[in-house]
Amino acid sequence: MLSIVLQRSFRLFSLALVPLILLLSALFAYYFETAVMQQWLLQANWLPYVCLIIASVISWQFGRSRLVWLSLLLLLIVQPIDPTWLEVGMAHTARFSFMLLVLNWLMISNDKGFSPTNLSVAILIIALLASASLWLLPSLATNSLSNSYVLTPTTSWLFQLWPELRQWLTATELFLALITLVLAVVRSVMQPNNSQVALLVSLFSLMILHAINQVAPSQLVVITLAIVVCFAVIKDSFLMAFKDELTGIPSRRALMQYLQTLGRKYTLVMSDIDHFKKFNDTYGHDVGDEVLKLVASKLNKVTGGGKAFRFGGEEFVLLFAGKSSTEVVPHIEALRQIIADYDIALRAKPRPPKPPQKSAKKTEKDKIVKVTTSFGVAEKTTEHSDFATIMKQADIALYAAKKAGRNCVKVAKQ
Ligand code: GH3
Ligand code: MG
Ligand code: MG
Repeated sequence: MLSIVLQRSFRLFSLALVPLILLLSALFAYYFETAVMQQWLLQANWLPYVCLIIASVISWQFGRSRLVWLSLLLLLIVQPIDPTWLEVGMAHTARFSFMLLVLNWLMISNDKGFSPTNLSVAILIIALLASASLWLLPSLATNSLSNSYVLTPTTSWLFQLWPELRQWLTATELFLALITLVLAVVRSVMQPNNSQVALLVSLFSLMILHAINQVAPSQLVVITLAIVVCFAVIKDSFLMAFKDELTGIPSRRALMQYLQTLGRKYTLVMSDIDHFKKFNDTYGHDVGDEVLKLVASKLNKVTGGGKAFRFGGEEFVLLFAGKSSTEVVPHIEALRQIIADYDIALRAKPRPPKPPQKSAKKTEKDKIVKVTTSFGVAEKTTEHSDFATIMKQADIALYAAKKAGRNCVKVAKQ
C-alpha cells in the first residue's frame, strides 16, 4: 500500500514538476515586471483566451467534461472584474470562493460527458455554487455559530502560525482553500495524470493570484496557467488517442504512426498469448485483464531497442528499427523465457465480504499460475517491402509457432 502511494506520488511529482517550475518562474518574473515586459504582456492579452478555448474544445471532443468546465472557469480569472457590475472587493471575494467551490466539485466528480441530462445537472451545480459564493458564504463568514464550531478551530492556529495569511484570506476562504487543497492532493496521488496536474496548478495559481493582486490579475501568471492547462489537455488527449487504455502501452494507432518513422530496414514480431481463451474461461475476464497487463509490461521492457504495441485482443506487435531478424531473435527468446517463468499469483476464491467466522474454513491460499506466449518474426526485405505483407509473414510465422506446440519463436521464411 505504502509503496503504491509512494510510486504514485513520484509519478505526480514528475508530471507536475515542469508546470510548477513555470508557475514559480512567472511569479518570480512578476516581481521584476519592467515597462517593456508590461507592454509585451499587454500585446499578449489574447493568449490566455486562445489557450483556454483550445483546451475546452479539445476536452469537449474527448468527452472530458471536468476539463471543459475547468477551462471555461479559468476564463473568469483572465477577465478583470468589471467595477460597474459588482462592488470590486465583494466581487473579488465571491469570484475566489466560487472558483474554489467549483474546483472542489471537479475534484470529487468524474468525467460525465455532455448528454442533455448531465449537462443540465452540471449547469445546475455551477449555478448553486455561484449562489453559494454570492450569498451563503458571506453570511457564513459573519455567522458566529459556524465560526465557533467549524471555522475558528481549524483556521485560528494557521493564522497564528502565519499571521500574514490574514491579509490575504478570511477564515471562510482559508477553510475552503484547505478543503480544496486536501481533495486536490488526495485525488492527484490516487490518479496521477495530466488532467489532475492541470487542476492542481489551477488551484495554486488561483491562490497566488488571490494573494498577489486583489483586482487586476497578474497577466504573467494567467498566461502561464492558460498555457499549462492547454498543454496538459493536449498531452492527455494525445495519450488517450495513442495509448492502449487497459495495458498502458502504445496502441495500434501509435503503431501505424510509428511505422511512418521507420527506415528501410526493420523487423516486426507478432506475439500472441497461448490458450488465453481457456485462461479467461477458467479464471474469469478480470484475471485475464490483469494477465494482459502483466504480459504487456514484460513486452514493453523488451531489450534490443524494440518497441511494443497492443495490436488488439491478446495480440501484440514489437518493432525493431534497423535490426535484422537474426539480431532480434535472441531478445525475443529472452522475453519468451521471462514471461514463461513468471509466477502469477491468483487469489483462488474471491475474498469473503465479511471476516470468516472461527468455525469457517480458512480461505484457500493464493494459487500460482503461468502463461506462455508464441512469437512470429518477419524482417523487412526488398521483396516483402510493404507493411501488410510483413504483417502477413509474421502472422504465418506465429501460426507456425502455435502449430509447433506454442511457447516458442518462429522466423518467417524469406
Ligand atoms: P491460441 O493459443 O491458439 O492463441 O489460443 P487462444 O485461446 O489464445 O486464442 P483465441 O484467439 O481463440 O482467443 C483469444 C482470447 O483472448 C479470446 C478472448 O476471450 C481473449 N481476449 C481478447 N481480448 C481480451 C481482453 O481485453 N481481456 C481479456 N480478459 N481477454 C481478452
Ligand atoms: Mg489470438
Ligand atoms: Mg492466443
